[in-house]
Amino acid sequence: MANLRESELHYPLGDAVPTPGGMLELAPGVRWLRMGLPFALDHINLWLLRDEIDGQAGWTVVDCGVANDATRALWEQVFAEHLEGLPILRVVVTHFHPDHIGLAAWLTERWQCRAWISATDFNLARLASGSTVGMGGNTAAAFFASHGLSDEDSLAKIRARSSYYPSMVPAVPSSFRRLMDGLQLNIGGHAWHCITGYGHAPEHISLHSPSLGLLISGDMVLPRISTNVSVVDVEPEADPLSLYLSSIQRMLSLPADTLVLPSHGKPFTGLHARVDQLQEHHDERLADVLQACSAKPCHAAELLDLLFKRKLDLHQTTFAMGESVAHLNALWLSGRLQRRLDADGVYRFSGL
Ligand SMILES: [Zn+2]
Repeated sequence: MANLRESELHYPLGDAVPTPGGMLELAPGVRWLRMGLPFALDHINLWLLRDEIDGQAGWTVVDCGVANDATRALWEQVFAEHLEGLPILRVVVTHFHPDHIGLAAWLTERWQCRAWISATDFNLARLASGSTVGMGGNTAAAFFASHGLSDEDSLAKIRARSSYYPSMVPAVPSSFRRLMDGLQLNIGGHAWHCITGYGHAPEHISLHSPSLGLLISGDMVLPRISTNVSVVDVEPEADPLSLYLSSIQRMLSLPADTLVLPSHGKPFTGLHARVDQLQEHHDERLADVLQACSAKPCHAAELLDLLFKRKLDLHQTTFAMGESVAHLNALWLSGRLQRRLDADGVYRFSGL
């Protein structure tokens, strides 16, 4: 969902973005890379941090891009041109989504280094890469159908999409180093604090460096679009929206002038304003959903027009369904709506 209050944010680099395979230096030893993505969201930002581990000089990489030949070729260009002849010493992964972890196995094998990631996301990536559980297939289709998605054509396509995750993440590193909330990494002489965020991925890690005034926010705080917050079939009664909102509220304890390095979009200042915008955005959507369900019982599919106000393709519809259920579950689990399973096998939510 586009940010209507984007003008409250400031982009210190203006419109400058790295070319694919290129690099922009944001601070001494902090480099911004960009890789393409085969989605409507067409790019991901990655970060190179000058580092030294056990006396060896090199680089820490944050996030990897999806596993395809185009991204591997861009990495080769980065290795040749932007590492100053030094090795990559570690690969930090913010969360298990394909654009972030895709090439982690390739990078860590090539450089004989460790992947650093939360245990929850590591284990979920291992599971999702090696199987079809939770990322498409019959259980996903049944979940969407139980929330009112009745278009047989769409459901058939969702059933057929069972290898979606492995196609972008064919392998996951076989070992890892565990990141947790509160852990401090020393990267190139600067402390970087791990901040866990919930609601977008099971245990997303953002990194904050007080001395550099930088926050690598991952997907938890993005300047232009709102972070996807979805309920998925493996945890149908989850409340990711409440978890997400409480996670971003914690970001308000960081300094207001922090330069935010997001996974998508451009580095920006205005972290506190952005958290307020995201809170307001979801508060408005929750109010809309509460009102609609109080007027008459609704299922998630029939709220898509209200929530998204635009035509969605199948890929967007599956994300949108997850978001719609997230708003409904937040209201249901906090006692503001009730839920019942009707004779047609569809959950409908209504006022108390
Ligand atoms: Zn993500």
